[in-house]
Amino acid sequence: MAVIALNRDLQGGLPFPKRVFFAYDTRNVICADADESVLDQVVGECLRLHRVFNRFSADSEISQLNRSLGRSFTCSDDVSLLLWLSLALHGESEGAFNPAIGSVCDLWDFSQERFEKPGPAQLERALACADLSKAGFSDDGSIILPEGMSLDLGGVAKGYAAERAALMLMQAGAGRGFVNFGGTIAVIGPKPDGSSWTFGLQREGSAYGESFWALLDAAEGSFATSARYYRGVEEGGVRYHHIIDPRMGHPVQNGVSEVTVHCAGAAMADALSTTLFVMGPDEGLAFASDLGAAALFRMQDGSVRASSGFPVRILEGGR
Ligand code: AMP
Ligand code: MG
Repeated sequence: MAVIALNRDLQGGLPFPKRVFFAYDTRNVICADADESVLDQVVGECLRLHRVFNRFSADSEISQLNRSLGRSFTCSDDVSLLLWLSLALHGESEGAFNPAIGSVCDLWDFSQERFEKPGPAQLERALACADLSKAGFSDDGSIILPEGMSLDLGGVAKGYAAERAALMLMQAGAGRGFVNFGGTIAVIGPKPDGSSWTFGLQREGSAYGESFWALLDAAEGSFATSARYYRGVEEGGVRYHHIIDPRMGHPVQNGVSEVTVHCAGAAMADALSTTLFVMGPDEGLAFASDLGAAALFRMQDGSVRASSGFPVRILEGGR
């Protein structure tokens, strides 16, 4: 999530019109060789998508869908498309990516004043509700969710919005610039002089844009990062965080600290970063390669594992 920060020093100032806005629980930047009015339309569309997918707002379409248990619900094209992508990845990843993990995520609520670990019986019940084979999907876009199921597209919605933003800009004639939604990045094209943009992978514990452990250079394609330190709590030396292992119902504890994915589209990059975090580096690097994506893992012990050719420069002492 918010671990790739755009550092103004690194960019040497932004050469195109830009917009900065808050949504998806993070800071979002759009910068492209497009008219100001186009940028405004793109921001409007991204805010609309946020209202569709935000499961913490009772009015969102995803919340309405989650309340329609046992009844047929006709989804919008946005929800249908993102569910289609999520279901495909759910199958390919043998369940590591699970868009129905909401019932389990609700038990790991880090917003409470006093964090309480859920008990085994609670977890078992919640996991049973995350079984997607019990949901009914029709070709006409209607869905019937079983009792207790709660869809959570938080692992992919930001990437979908970033990809939509980049596409809108390109359709309006933009050929250069980028979209950076709290570390989920879609590059539209190179800088005015044809060189790559540089993005920093934020050092754990540092403030936004303050210090980086690695730099990413790109003139095209997308990046997304999933990190255990982004949202969660520390208790008894254990970090409980927001990425759930759907086999156990627990926050993933596999030695991974963060993973960044590089591939063509931002929705896929976002969904894959969550998936690869669950899989860990051995399975994750092979899985990414099968899908034509590249990945960069940073482990809790500080070691780094990456697909060959990943466009990263590791900074020894940070900056
Ligand atoms: P990200 O930061 O992109 O990895 O997304 C993490 C978010 O995805 C969490 O806050 C949950 O909303 C959701 N999530 C957690 N675990 C999973 C999982 N195994 N599969 C799909 N989505 C998940
Ligand atoms: Mg993700």
